[in-house]
Amino acid sequence: MTKDKRDSKEIAAVKGTKDILPEEVGQWQAVEAAGRRVFELYGYRELRAPIIEPTELFEKGTGQTSDIVIKEMYTFTDKGGRSITLRPEYTPSVVRAILEHRLYLQPDPLRFYYMGPMFRYDKPQKGRYRQFHQVDIEVFGEKDAAIDAEIVEMADRLLRELGVAGTEILVNSVGCRACRPAYLKELRNRAAAVKDRLCDDCKRKAETNPLRIFDCKVEGCKEAAAGFPAITDHLCAECSGHFAEFKSGLDLYGLAHEVEPRLVRGIDYYTKTTFEVVASSLGAQSAVLGGGRYDDMMKDFGGPDLCGIGFAMGVERLLAVAGLKPEKKPFAYLAYMGGAAKKPGMELARRLRAAGVECLIEYKDKGLKAQLGRASKLGAAWVVIIGEEEVRKGLCAVKSMATGEQRDASPDDVVKIIRG
Ligand SMILES: [Zn+2]
Ligand SMILES: [Zn+2]
Repeated sequence: MTKDKRDSKEIAAVKGTKDILPEEVGQWQAVEAAGRRVFELYGYRELRAPIIEPTELFEKGTGQTSDIVIKEMYTFTDKGGRSITLRPEYTPSVVRAILEHRLYLQPDPLRFYYMGPMFRYDKPQKGRYRQFHQVDIEVFGEKDAAIDAEIVEMADRLLRELGVAGTEILVNSVGCRACRPAYLKELRNRAAAVKDRLCDDCKRKAETNPLRIFDCKVEGCKEAAAGFPAITDHLCAECSGHFAEFKSGLDLYGLAHEVEPRLVRGIDYYTKTTFEVVASSLGAQSAVLGGGRYDDMMKDFGGPDLCGIGFAMGVERLLAVAGLKPEKKPFAYLAYMGGAAKKPGMELARRLRAAGVECLIEYKDKGLKAQLGRASKLGAAWVVIIGEEEVRKGLCAVKSMATGEQRDASPDDVVKIIRG
């Protein structure tokens, strides 16, 4: 490659990231608006934490044995020699913020939502990005299984509002510190017995966290794990009582659900409830939303003994099934003709905007026909025309692009006509 060619090479977005262009952004805004509206109906408030966090937050929070920590974190050393990580998930950030600001001492409910990018250094593939986006909610300090059912109902409401059809709710309990160790011990023995049939990843998991073998997509591992005991048969009285309450809450809301004992979610901190909402149209990577309870996390961070539960929804995956068609907002195109009409045109555009009318004026000194052509191409609802003749009379013309009807009006009337 010659020097010239190298210099002229276009700079592309970083691998695994993508631009969200104006033509797509309407869908994103629709998801965010629906999220805000629904979550606030249930008493949630937005908490915006930084994108970068100390690496140890995720090592501690996400778990040393989690694949996310081991393989997928975007970690770098900053100029001050600190190890910084682009957050791979949101929950540890919320826990940190609650502790740092002592939010648990405030009267406000500990119910938070957040929408934004997360980062994982994963192999990019169709529909999977290194910078991906999540809508996330978290609740702290609610032990009762009623909240587990309520957040699933809230998730269902959001997905309905977004027009996601054909969903299925999968639920499970992964037990607690009282009942899980005995189950894991049995699972470890069973996994050791079929070790030869497991992939390298699962061979490691068989010793560290055999639950995670259930997450493996390799066919041989799936077959080997098919005969493993189900955690739902090994829950302590408290966990099985909680699970029963959770399911009866879902029944109360009329939400059909299926118990999936292999639903362990990819992260080690879950206790008791885990759930996923899957959309059939998504195929193998079918979960649009998933979550669970993490009752020990706050305590493990050295904070108060406050239980937690939450879910995260992948926006890219959601958009693949939501089929959102956001409405186009009506706007006015202001066409000015001739130098003497330019400044009155600018003034009129300002008036329209001040009255809340979206108005586009382009400063290219084109003729009326060309400007009408632009207005039509851009989908303007109205064209406001101001020429030298109109300026002299203190008038302008308003044309409805829908009906083709055109009339003269004073600047005050233009605002009235357009606002209806
Ligand atoms: Zn238990
Ligand atoms: Zn495997």
